[in-house]
This record gives sequence, structure tokens and C-alpha cells, in this order.
Amino acid sequence: METLGEGDGPIDIHDYRHGLKLLKETRETSLWTNKKGYACPACGKPFEQLFTSEKQHNTFSPSSVTPFCIRREADRVLMFRH
Ligand SMILES: [Zn+2]
Repeated sequence: METLGEGDGPIDIHDYRHGLKLLKETRETSLWTNKKGYACPACGKPFEQLFTSEKQHNTFSPSSVTPFCIRREADRVLMFRH
């Protein structure tokens, strides 16, 4: 199983683009479905969706409160939903 962002640097989504399906994109955020079963860099388990945000504040609705992991990068937050 391939893990997203095994190095220390920021994850380049385009390196994994063939296994991720873009569901939604705004200027500062993006939401992806994990088609290929990539593993989450935080816990090592496969995730269902990946949300990325360059916004300072992010609010998630109750429907999105399933187990998730967060990865923090300098200019971005990545949320892996399981
Ligand atoms: Zn995880």
C-alpha cells in the first residue's frame, strides 16, 4: 500500500493524481476521493477522502465527524477522513 507523502516535505497531490478523484475545488480548498486505497501518512491506514485547505480557519459539519487524521504543513492543512 502506497502512503501519501512519505517524506517530510509537503505532499504534492499531483504525484498521486492518478489514484485520487477530485470532488470539489475552491481557490483555497480541495476535496478528493481515494480511488487507489492510499494509506494515510498520519496513521498508516487507508482513508476515504482527503480535504486540503490553505484557509486559517476550517469548520466541519457533524456529517463529516468520522474518524480522521490531520497533517499540518507550512501553508496548508490536510484532513484524511477514514
Ligand atoms: Zn489516518
